[in-house]
Amino acid sequence: MSVSQEYFGETHNMVRDTVRKFVGREINPFVEEWEEQGEFPRELYGKAGEAGILGIGYPEAYGGSGGDIFLKIAACEELMRCGSSGVVAGLGSLDISIPPILSLGTEEQKSRFVPPVLKGDKISALGITEPNAGSDVANIRTKGIRKGDHYLVNGGKMFITSGARADQLTCAVRTGEEGFKGVSLLVIESDTPGYSVSRKLRKMGWWASDTAQIFFDECQVPVENLLGKEGQGFYGIMQNFQNERLQLSVIANMTAQLALEESLKYAQDREAFGRPLSGFQVTRHKLADMATLVEASREFVYRVAAKIDAGKKQIKEISMAKNFACMVSDRVTYDAVQIHGGFGYMREYLVERLYRDNRILSIGGGTQEIMKEIISRHILR
Ligand SMILES: Cc1cc2nc3c(=O)[nH]c(=O)nc-3n(C[C@H](O)[C@H](O)[C@H](O)COP(=O)(O)OP(=O)(O)OC[C@H]3O[C@@H](n4cnc5c(N)ncnc54)[C@H](O)[C@@H]3O)c2cc1C
Repeated sequence: MSVSQEYFGETHNMVRDTVRKFVGREINPFVEEWEEQGEFPRELYGKAGEAGILGIGYPEAYGGSGGDIFLKIAACEELMRCGSSGVVAGLGSLDISIPPILSLGTEEQKSRFVPPVLKGDKISALGITEPNAGSDVANIRTKGIRKGDHYLVNGGKMFITSGARADQLTCAVRTGEEGFKGVSLLVIESDTPGYSVSRKLRKMGWWASDTAQIFFDECQVPVENLLGKEGQGFYGIMQNFQNERLQLSVIANMTAQLALEESLKYAQDREAFGRPLSGFQVTRHKLADMATLVEASREFVYRVAAKIDAGKKQIKEISMAKNFACMVSDRVTYDAVQIHGGFGYMREYLVERLYRDNRILSIGGGTQEIMKEIISRHILR
């Protein structure tokens, strides 16, 4: 994969180098074991914090190292080289849960909730989805009723990345009327009485990331933990989606990139009927299509990212980019397994995991159908 000079300069390459070394030293030797165990050690957050990886793109005032959107993309691309998007998603749960604190929080909230997470001392997760409300965010039912100096929270959250061991949850609750106007965001600390992890969920892919169901029973959350004003939660969630969709697009592109690289190697090494697989025109053409799709998707995502970085609204474009990247990663991981034949179905081959892990990408952070709803709203009168 050639790194585009148009978007990445010296600082980005330095970050790439740091993350690449970190992945080689702290992740690659253990990643197979973590996948089988269904989690990576909690200490990895501390190590990533110490190496400055968790703070990339965040304000220096709260322990981050600043930088543009392409620093974040460079770091994500290099992390993905570990071959486990489960590790990347688990380590990256701060990237979906910290931005609402930064955009809606007070100075005191930012100073309290952000630095320990960027250091890797605390784990932060995002709690929006519920057993009965996923795409339909405005319909969440977890209640937060104000009682004096606290909110009494009752309800539960579903499919929460890093949920089993999160120390704090940026959580959507209903503090007011039905619909989106009644949704607020609270930061709920996991040691608050009434907060419990109901269960860790077993899943198709992302084995190394923990995904949990969380339960609130008369959970007393101090009013100081409300982000922004009551009723501003839906706005905070929607604003956050742009960021999450960009990250998922990058993860999809890297999933496809890795599947392509594995297939290129395999097609040249594996022989059938007295010639390498790449000797069959059908295989060569499949590889050519895969390479074309991966490159087109990567360039499109970079283009949209550059516009976001320049402060332009890209709601329609990021929805298109996510769907396109996921369509590409669906196709490329499918073809990669096909090129590997029976070995592609075996756990010791990376393409098997890429194929499984890929499936969540067109569901999480807004499904493929919801992306199409957004796009169609922008293109129809
Ligand atoms: C591994 C994993 C990690 C996750 N991590 C988190 C997390 O950290 N925090 C969090 O809050 N959530 C998380 N989620 C939840 C994820 O964001 C939701 O699963 C997703 O938004 C879809 O919601 P749902 O599962 O309730 O599906 P539903 O909303 O019930 O949708 C089911 C199907 O109906 C379709 N559909 C729904 N509405 C429409 C419509 N209007 N038009 C057309 N089709 C429609 C959907 O596209 C989908 O195909 C995670 C999920 C998984 C599996």
